Amino acid sequence: MKCYQPRKIVLEQSIQSLPMVRGILENIPGIPVAVIDDPHQIVNEILQTPDPITEGKRILLLARQKGHFFKSCPGTQRHLCCGYKILNTANNCDLDCTYCILQGYFTNPLMLVYVNIDDLFRELHQLLTQHPRRFYRIGTGELTDSLTLEPLTGYGAHLIKFFARYDNAIIELKTKSVFIDSLLDLQHNQRTVISWSLNSESISRTEESLSPTIDERLHAARRCQAEGYRLGFHFDPMIYTDNWETGYRAVVEKLFSVIVPDRIAWISLGALRYPPYLDSIIRQRHPASKIVTGEFFPGIDGKLRYFKHIRIEMFKKMLEIIRTYSEEVFVYLCMESDEVWRRAFGWSPGNMATLSRLLDQRVMDV
Ligand code: SF4
Repeated sequence: MKCYQPRKIVLEQSIQSLPMVRGILENIPGIPVAVIDDPHQIVNEILQTPDPITEGKRILLLARQKGHFFKSCPGTQRHLCCGYKILNTANNCDLDCTYCILQGYFTNPLMLVYVNIDDLFRELHQLLTQHPRRFYRIGTGELTDSLTLEPLTGYGAHLIKFFARYDNAIIELKTKSVFIDSLLDLQHNQRTVISWSLNSESISRTEESLSPTIDERLHAARRCQAEGYRLGFHFDPMIYTDNWETGYRAVVEKLFSVIVPDRIAWISLGALRYPPYLDSIIRQRHPASKIVTGEFFPGIDGKLRYFKHIRIEMFKKMLEIIRTYSEEVFVYLCMESDEVWRRAFGWSPGNMATLSRLLDQRVMDV
């Protein structure tokens, strides 16, 4: 897999001398660099182009995070949320999956990396030491793919080394990429979970065509397993097709043929869901995609989802398949109601605090 190469790098004047900036420029030499006072002008230029989402992904903006790096996951109204916290290290992603909710999500469509990592460490240290009895599950994969820019930024490796020093938190790096070389040979102290998003092979080929294949992702996961990392797997978004069950069954089989269940912190399942505005973006940007031809209806959070009986059927069957390989591995649903949990899994955590506690317990002990 080739690493992201922007057409141009734009950087704010005030961050020119930061070590991460120097590292990025060394890691991708030969790319034109523009030093600017204010990125608004270039953002406005991109917004005037016919396809700002595609154009924006071609430009890498290096900037200072002026607000907080750390946020709570917004969750979804009246659905069970897992109590996740978000570390906002970067925005946008070059892998350009057809269903990606980030398309059209940002007012700034550029690829953005926050390079003032020392401020991030200060903010996190303060938080984790101020509340030593609280446990934090933190992830960087909500507004970007956690590792797709790893060869440029080394963010993942920096975070792993940082979190190794704290007992009351874990960092989850969620990815479809295979850029794990910088994560091997690190003292991670079991404070990192490296997670891969998985899908059926046919969906991966058609809807995630710029990402590594499922075999490549699982090979990377196996290498991380050998380094003692805990692993996570996210079948999300599951996409309903005529032969969905065969496709997902084959990937679960592959997963358990290379990964030892004991090393799996969790597996999540989530069905395709997206805000209505994404429908026309997918049709325009990915005309070959089949996903918008499914039958959807708006849920209570306004997002379009499959009908409840379809989601229940998919989750129930997937749990059955996973249980043929492991009775113990923790499987949870992402953003589903208490009713869907009960009908698909036969039980429900009942509330967000319980789900959050169950997930924490999977990774609290070193
Ligand atoms: S890998 Fe994730 S963040 Fe990147 S385009 Fe695909 S869905 Fe979006």
